Amino acid sequence: MDKLNHPAILVVDMLNDFVTGALGCDRARAIVPATAKLLEAARSKGVPVIYCNDAHLPGIDRELQIWGDHAIAGTPGAEVIPELAPQKQDFVVPKRRYSGFFQTDLDILLKELGVKTVVMTGLHAHMCVRHTSADAYCLGYDVVVAKEAVNSFTEEDYQGGLAYLKTCYGAPALSNEELIAAF
Ligand code: ZN
Repeated sequence: MDKLNHPAILVVDMLNDFVTGALGCDRARAIVPATAKLLEAARSKGVPVIYCNDAHLPGIDRELQIWGDHAIAGTPGAEVIPELAPQKQDFVVPKRRYSGFFQTDLDILLKELGVKTVVMTGLHAHMCVRHTSADAYCLGYDVVVAKEAVNSFTEEDYQGGLAYLKTCYGAPALSNEELIAAF
């Protein structure tokens, strides 16, 4: 396939609370090795890696009413899991809603980096990955899904999430091998 047009990797909510903590699940843990491999390849090829991290305010953020307390800003649960810890050249964008773009610096950062294509990784395919992809699409970015580095609580939500992203935003679901060849 063709090279991706000015890609960056977005790593959504690969935080302790989403992988091993309050909202943790086996399917989240399952994508850690493939995600680590993809991030390493991206960095080696100069592709920016940007973390979009839940950082909720306790007692205030409305998502906590739906999901219970998780990823409270300043707590260990809100930190990226050790296996995927941000490196010095990476970027970290805190968020308080599902989308990594909503009231954050993500759009201006991507523009300053010259990014045209966002490669989606992280959790969950049908929620934060979906909302972030929606805003990326609306803001004019091409969206690509790293299918080995994205997951959901269930297989049904994962498959449904990928199908929705393909249908609504034209986002292909690519393997690590395809992505790394296209960096
Ligand atoms: Zn949240």
